[in-house]
Amino acid sequence: MEDIKVPNLGQAASAACSMATNFLAPVKTERQIYENSMLEDDPNANSVVPTSQEDRTVPRWGPNHKGAQELANLYSTGKRTQECICVGICITLIAVNSVFVLIKLRLENLSSIAIAALCGIITADFGSGLVHWAADTWGSVELPILGKNFLRPFREHHIDPTSITRHDFIETNGDNFMVAIPVLSKLTWDFLTLSEMEMQQRFVWTCYWFLLAIFVAMTNQIHKWSHTYFGLPGWVIWLQELRIILPRKHHRVHHVAPHETYFCITTGWLNWPLEKLQFWYILEMIIEWSTGCKPRADDLKWAQKRS
Ligand SMILES: [Zn+2]
Ligand SMILES: [Zn+2]
Repeated sequence: MEDIKVPNLGQAASAACSMATNFLAPVKTERQIYENSMLEDDPNANSVVPTSQEDRTVPRWGPNHKGAQELANLYSTGKRTQECICVGICITLIAVNSVFVLIKLRLENLSSIAIAALCGIITADFGSGLVHWAADTWGSVELPILGKNFLRPFREHHIDPTSITRHDFIETNGDNFMVAIPVLSKLTWDFLTLSEMEMQQRFVWTCYWFLLAIFVAMTNQIHKWSHTYFGLPGWVIWLQELRIILPRKHHRVHHVAPHETYFCITTGWLNWPLEKLQFWYILEMIIEWSTGCKPRADDLKWAQKRS
Protein backbone atom coordinates (compact mmCIF):
# COMPACT_ATOMS: atom_id res chain seq x y z
CA MET A 1 0.00 0.00 0.00
CA GLU A 2 1.20 3.53 -0.90
CA ASP A 3 2.19 5.90 1.87
CA ILE A 4 -0.30 8.73 2.28
CA LYS A 5 1.29 12.05 3.26
CA VAL A 6 -0.56 13.36 6.30
CA PRO A 7 -0.25 17.13 6.60
CA ASN A 8 1.47 18.20 9.77
CA LEU A 9 -1.49 19.50 11.75
CA GLY A 10 0.72 20.92 14.47
CA GLN A 11 2.59 23.15 11.97
CA ALA A 12 -0.64 24.26 10.27
CA ALA A 13 -2.19 25.18 13.62
CA SER A 14 0.87 27.13 14.71
CA ALA A 15 0.97 29.01 11.36
CA ALA A 16 -2.73 29.86 11.75
CA CYS A 17 -2.09 31.02 15.34
CA SER A 18 0.80 33.26 14.35
CA MET A 19 -1.28 34.76 11.49
CA ALA A 20 -4.12 35.46 13.92
CA THR A 21 -1.68 36.97 16.44
CA ASN A 22 -0.20 39.27 13.78
CA PHE A 23 -3.67 40.23 12.55
CA LEU A 24 -4.95 41.04 16.02
CA ALA A 25 -1.75 42.66 17.33
CA PRO A 26 -2.12 46.30 18.38
CA VAL A 27 -1.37 48.70 15.51
CA LYS A 28 1.08 50.57 17.79
CA THR A 29 2.55 49.00 20.91
CA GLU A 30 2.56 50.77 24.28
CA ARG A 31 6.32 51.23 23.90
CA GLN A 32 5.94 52.88 20.47
CA ILE A 33 3.31 55.20 21.94
CA TYR A 34 5.55 56.15 24.88
CA GLU A 35 8.64 56.65 22.75
CA ASN A 36 7.17 58.36 19.69
CA SER A 37 4.24 60.50 20.79
CA MET A 38 3.57 63.30 23.25
CA LEU A 39 2.02 62.05 26.50
CA GLU A 40 -0.96 64.36 26.60
CA ASP A 41 -2.61 62.57 29.53
CA ASP A 42 0.54 62.89 31.63
CA PRO A 43 1.57 66.57 31.85
CA ASN A 44 4.11 65.84 34.61
CA ALA A 45 5.76 63.25 32.33
CA ASN A 46 5.89 60.58 35.05
CA SER A 47 5.63 57.81 32.47
CA VAL A 48 8.22 59.18 30.05
CA VAL A 49 10.82 56.63 29.00
CA PRO A 50 14.47 57.81 29.22
CA THR A 51 15.19 60.09 26.27
CA SER A 52 18.33 61.44 24.61
CA GLN A 53 20.13 64.56 25.81
CA GLU A 54 18.88 66.36 22.66
CA ASP A 55 15.23 65.53 23.54
CA ARG A 56 15.74 67.04 27.01
CA THR A 57 17.24 70.31 25.79
CA VAL A 58 15.15 70.91 22.63
CA PRO A 59 11.60 69.51 22.97
CA ARG A 60 10.38 67.07 20.37
CA TRP A 61 6.76 68.08 20.94
CA GLY A 62 4.65 70.70 22.64
CA PRO A 63 4.21 74.49 22.73
CA ASN A 64 7.96 75.12 23.17
CA HIS A 65 8.87 73.39 19.90
CA LYS A 66 10.29 76.09 17.59
CA GLY A 67 8.48 74.79 14.48
CA ALA A 68 5.16 74.71 16.35
CA GLN A 69 5.67 78.31 17.51
CA GLU A 70 6.47 79.44 13.95
CA LEU A 71 3.34 77.70 12.62
CA ALA A 72 1.11 79.12 15.37
CA ASN A 73 2.29 82.63 14.45
CA LEU A 74 1.13 82.15 10.84
CA TYR A 75 -2.55 82.20 11.97
CA SER A 76 -3.74 85.47 10.38
CA THR A 77 -6.63 87.93 10.76
CA GLY A 78 -7.78 87.08 7.24
CA LYS A 79 -7.97 83.40 8.15
CA ARG A 80 -9.89 84.24 11.33
CA THR A 81 -12.40 86.30 9.30
CA GLN A 82 -12.99 83.40 6.89
CA GLU A 83 -13.59 81.06 9.85
CA CYS A 84 -16.06 83.46 11.54
CA ILE A 85 -18.08 83.81 8.31
CA CYS A 86 -18.15 80.03 7.74
CA VAL A 87 -19.23 79.29 11.33
CA GLY A 88 -22.07 81.86 11.09
CA ILE A 89 -23.38 80.55 7.75
CA CYS A 90 -23.06 76.88 8.72
CA ILE A 91 -24.88 77.20 12.06
CA THR A 92 -27.73 79.08 10.35
CA LEU A 93 -28.03 76.38 7.65
CA ILE A 94 -28.00 73.55 10.23
CA ALA A 95 -30.81 75.27 12.17
CA VAL A 96 -32.92 75.88 9.03
CA ASN A 97 -32.43 72.32 7.73
CA SER A 98 -33.19 70.80 11.16
CA VAL A 99 -36.59 72.54 11.16
CA PHE A 100 -37.33 71.30 7.61
CA VAL A 101 -36.26 67.72 8.45
CA LEU A 102 -38.52 67.66 11.54
CA ILE A 103 -41.48 69.00 9.54
CA LYS A 104 -41.06 66.41 6.74
CA LEU A 105 -40.26 63.43 8.99
CA ARG A 106 -42.69 60.47 8.63
CA LEU A 107 -42.45 57.88 11.42
CA GLU A 108 -43.19 54.96 9.06
CA ASN A 109 -39.84 55.61 7.28
CA LEU A 110 -37.84 55.57 10.50
CA SER A 111 -35.89 52.35 9.83
CA SER A 112 -34.66 53.43 6.37
CA ILE A 113 -33.86 56.89 7.76
CA ALA A 114 -31.77 55.27 10.53
CA ILE A 115 -29.81 53.26 7.94
CA ALA A 116 -29.30 56.41 5.83
CA ALA A 117 -28.10 58.30 8.89
CA LEU A 118 -25.64 55.52 9.77
CA CYS A 119 -24.28 55.52 6.19
CA GLY A 120 -23.90 59.32 6.46
CA ILE A 121 -21.82 58.93 9.63
CA ILE A 122 -19.62 56.24 8.05
CA THR A 123 -19.09 58.41 4.95
CA ALA A 124 -18.12 61.33 7.20
CA ASP A 125 -15.55 59.12 8.98
CA PHE A 126 -14.05 58.03 5.65
CA GLY A 127 -14.07 61.63 4.37
CA SER A 128 -12.29 62.82 7.53
CA GLY A 129 -9.63 60.16 6.96
CA LEU A 130 -9.14 61.02 3.31
CA VAL A 131 -8.83 64.79 3.85
CA HIS A 132 -6.64 64.32 6.95
CA TRP A 133 -4.38 61.84 5.12
CA ALA A 134 -4.06 64.12 2.05
CA ALA A 135 -3.26 67.20 4.19
CA ASP A 136 -0.79 65.35 6.47
CA THR A 137 1.00 63.49 3.70
CA TRP A 138 1.24 65.82 0.69
CA GLY A 139 1.77 69.50 -0.10
CA SER A 140 3.62 72.10 1.88
CA VAL A 141 2.99 75.16 4.05
CA GLU A 142 4.81 77.12 1.30
CA LEU A 143 1.97 76.47 -1.22
CA PRO A 144 0.07 79.67 -2.11
CA ILE A 145 -3.28 80.13 -0.25
CA LEU A 146 -3.71 76.43 0.55
CA GLY A 147 -0.45 76.11 2.52
CA LYS A 148 -0.76 78.79 5.20
CA ASN A 149 -4.55 78.64 5.45
CA PHE A 150 -5.37 74.94 5.32
CA LEU A 151 -2.20 72.80 5.65
CA ARG A 152 -0.58 74.83 8.47
CA PRO A 153 -2.98 73.56 11.21
CA PHE A 154 -2.18 69.93 10.30
CA ARG A 155 1.58 70.53 10.60
CA GLU A 156 1.17 72.39 13.89
CA HIS A 157 -1.07 69.64 15.27
CA HIS A 158 1.58 66.92 14.90
CA ILE A 159 4.32 68.79 16.73
CA ASP A 160 2.05 70.40 19.32
CA PRO A 161 -1.00 68.10 19.62
CA THR A 162 -2.33 69.95 22.67
CA SER A 163 -2.51 73.30 20.81
CA ILE A 164 -5.97 72.25 19.56
CA THR A 165 -7.22 72.23 23.18
CA ARG A 166 -6.27 75.93 23.46
CA HIS A 167 -8.08 76.89 20.23
CA ASP A 168 -11.50 78.49 20.65
CA PHE A 169 -14.73 77.33 18.95
CA ILE A 170 -14.12 79.42 15.79
CA GLU A 171 -10.52 78.29 15.19
CA THR A 172 -11.40 74.66 15.94
CA ASN A 173 -14.46 74.43 13.71
CA GLY A 174 -14.15 77.11 10.98
CA ASP A 175 -12.70 74.90 8.24
CA ASN A 176 -14.97 71.89 8.79
CA PHE A 177 -18.02 74.15 8.90
CA MET A 178 -16.86 75.59 5.56
CA VAL A 179 -16.76 72.10 3.97
CA ALA A 180 -20.34 71.40 5.11
CA ILE A 181 -21.79 74.65 3.68
CA PRO A 182 -22.28 73.52 0.01
CA VAL A 183 -24.18 70.35 1.04
CA LEU A 184 -26.34 72.19 3.59
CA SER A 185 -27.08 74.96 1.04
CA LYS A 186 -28.21 72.40 -1.54
CA LEU A 187 -30.50 70.75 1.05
CA THR A 188 -32.07 74.10 1.99
CA TRP A 189 -32.55 74.88 -1.71
CA ASP A 190 -34.32 71.52 -2.22
CA PHE A 191 -36.59 72.06 0.79
CA LEU A 192 -37.57 75.49 -0.55
CA THR A 193 -38.11 74.59 -4.21
CA LEU A 194 -39.25 70.95 -4.47
CA SER A 195 -42.85 69.79 -4.17
CA GLU A 196 -44.02 67.79 -1.12
CA MET A 197 -44.10 64.58 -3.20
CA GLU A 198 -40.59 65.09 -4.63
CA MET A 199 -39.29 65.84 -1.14
CA GLN A 200 -40.85 62.66 0.31
CA GLN A 201 -39.40 60.57 -2.54
CA ARG A 202 -35.87 61.70 -1.78
CA PHE A 203 -36.24 62.12 1.99
CA VAL A 204 -34.02 59.14 2.89
CA TRP A 205 -31.21 60.61 0.74
CA THR A 206 -31.80 64.01 2.32
CA CYS A 207 -31.27 62.44 5.77
CA TYR A 208 -28.06 60.79 4.53
CA TRP A 209 -26.64 64.10 3.29
CA PHE A 210 -27.84 65.99 6.37
CA LEU A 211 -26.16 63.60 8.84
CA LEU A 212 -23.05 63.50 6.65
CA ALA A 213 -22.86 67.32 6.69
CA ILE A 214 -23.44 67.52 10.46
CA PHE A 215 -20.75 64.93 11.23
CA VAL A 216 -18.31 66.60 8.81
CA ALA A 217 -19.00 69.92 10.55
CA MET A 218 -18.55 68.34 14.01
CA THR A 219 -15.39 66.40 13.16
CA ASN A 220 -12.77 68.81 14.46
CA GLN A 221 -14.73 69.44 17.67
CA ILE A 222 -14.82 65.64 18.18
CA HIS A 223 -11.10 65.57 17.37
CA LYS A 224 -10.44 68.34 19.92
CA TRP A 225 -12.30 66.31 22.59
CA SER A 226 -10.10 63.30 21.78
CA HIS A 227 -7.11 65.44 22.87
CA THR A 228 -8.79 66.81 26.00
CA TYR A 229 -7.71 64.72 28.97
CA PHE A 230 -8.92 67.08 31.69
CA GLY A 231 -12.32 68.67 32.35
CA LEU A 232 -14.39 67.03 29.58
CA PRO A 233 -18.17 66.98 30.24
CA GLY A 234 -19.48 63.55 31.33
CA TRP A 235 -21.70 63.12 28.25
CA VAL A 236 -18.70 63.56 25.91
CA ILE A 237 -16.71 60.91 27.80
CA TRP A 238 -19.79 58.66 27.62
CA LEU A 239 -20.01 59.10 23.81
CA GLN A 240 -16.25 58.39 23.54
CA GLU A 241 -16.50 55.27 25.67
CA LEU A 242 -19.39 53.98 23.55
CA ARG A 243 -17.21 54.71 20.47
CA ILE A 244 -19.96 56.85 18.96
CA ILE A 245 -17.32 59.60 18.64
CA LEU A 246 -13.53 59.30 18.36
CA PRO A 247 -12.14 57.90 21.66
CA ARG A 248 -8.96 59.40 23.18
CA LYS A 249 -6.96 56.18 23.41
CA HIS A 250 -7.88 55.29 19.83
CA HIS A 251 -6.67 58.63 18.39
CA ARG A 252 -3.31 58.31 20.18
CA VAL A 253 -2.38 55.69 17.59
CA HIS A 254 -2.37 58.39 14.88
CA HIS A 255 -0.08 60.61 16.96
CA VAL A 256 2.78 58.12 17.05
CA ALA A 257 5.50 59.47 14.71
CA PRO A 258 5.63 59.29 11.70
CA HIS A 259 1.82 59.75 11.71
CA GLU A 260 1.18 57.28 8.90
CA THR A 261 -2.06 55.58 10.01
CA TYR A 262 -5.43 56.02 11.83
CA PHE A 263 -6.37 59.19 9.90
CA CYS A 264 -10.17 58.89 10.44
CA ILE A 265 -11.17 61.30 13.21
CA THR A 266 -14.99 61.43 13.28
CA THR A 267 -15.90 58.09 14.84
CA GLY A 268 -12.66 56.24 14.06
CA TRP A 269 -14.70 53.18 13.01
CA LEU A 270 -12.82 52.77 9.71
CA ASN A 271 -9.28 53.07 11.09
CA TRP A 272 -8.72 49.43 11.93
CA PRO A 273 -10.14 47.95 8.67
CA LEU A 274 -8.27 50.52 6.55
CA GLU A 275 -5.03 49.74 8.40
CA LYS A 276 -5.51 45.99 7.87
CA LEU A 277 -6.17 46.60 4.16
CA GLN A 278 -3.02 48.80 4.06
CA PHE A 279 -5.26 51.32 2.32
CA TRP A 280 -3.17 54.47 3.04
CA TYR A 281 0.13 52.70 2.38
CA ILE A 282 -1.05 51.45 -1.04
CA LEU A 283 -2.39 54.91 -1.97
CA GLU A 284 0.95 56.46 -0.98
CA MET A 285 2.90 53.89 -3.00
CA ILE A 286 0.81 54.66 -6.11
CA ILE A 287 1.21 58.43 -5.69
CA GLU A 288 4.94 58.22 -4.94
CA TRP A 289 5.47 55.94 -7.92
CA SER A 290 3.50 58.17 -10.31
CA THR A 291 4.65 61.63 -9.10
CA GLY A 292 7.97 61.03 -7.35
CA CYS A 293 6.73 62.98 -4.28
CA LYS A 294 7.80 61.59 -0.90
CA PRO A 295 4.95 61.14 1.61
CA ARG A 296 5.16 63.39 4.72
CA ALA A 297 8.29 65.23 3.49
CA ASP A 298 6.93 68.63 4.64
CA ASP A 299 5.63 67.16 7.93
CA LEU A 300 9.10 65.79 8.70
CA LYS A 301 10.73 69.11 7.79
CA TRP A 302 8.58 70.95 10.37
CA ALA A 303 9.11 68.24 13.01
CA GLN A 304 12.87 68.78 12.66
CA LYS A 305 12.72 72.58 13.20
CA ARG A 306 13.44 72.11 16.88
CA SER A 307 15.91 74.94 17.42
ZN1 LIG B 1 -2.50 63.98 11.49
ZN1 LIG C 1 -5.06 64.69 16.73
